Amino acid sequence: MTTTRALQQDIVAHKRRKGFNTTSHDREVLLAMRELGELHEALDHNRRDEIGGELADVAIYLLTIAEMHGLDLGEEVVRKMQVNKARRYEPDESGTLIRVKNPVQS
Ligand SMILES: [Mg+2]
Repeated sequence: MTTTRALQQDIVAHKRRKGFNTTSHDREVLLAMRELGELHEALDHNRRDEIGGELADVAIYLLTIAEMHGLDLGEEVVRKMQVNKARRYEPDESGTLIRVKNPVQS
């Protein structure tokens, strides 16, 4: 089994071997946004043979950014999901769910 950190390190090593950017998070964010556009297009046109590859393209840029900043994206997702699961939401008058602030934190 490959850990997220090992996957990140493999992606960055591959980019270095190819001469791609591994230092500018600005460039990686812009390229991730471009890939999100490609993913959206694949989803909109239900091009099922492309969706997985476009999801991977987006993930590769996010994993690269995490590695550039010494973070394990898998651990970050787990940590953030714990935060999200602890949040409470209630519907407003239109039925839209609104996060209820924890009175201790406000
Ligand atoms: Mg793509």
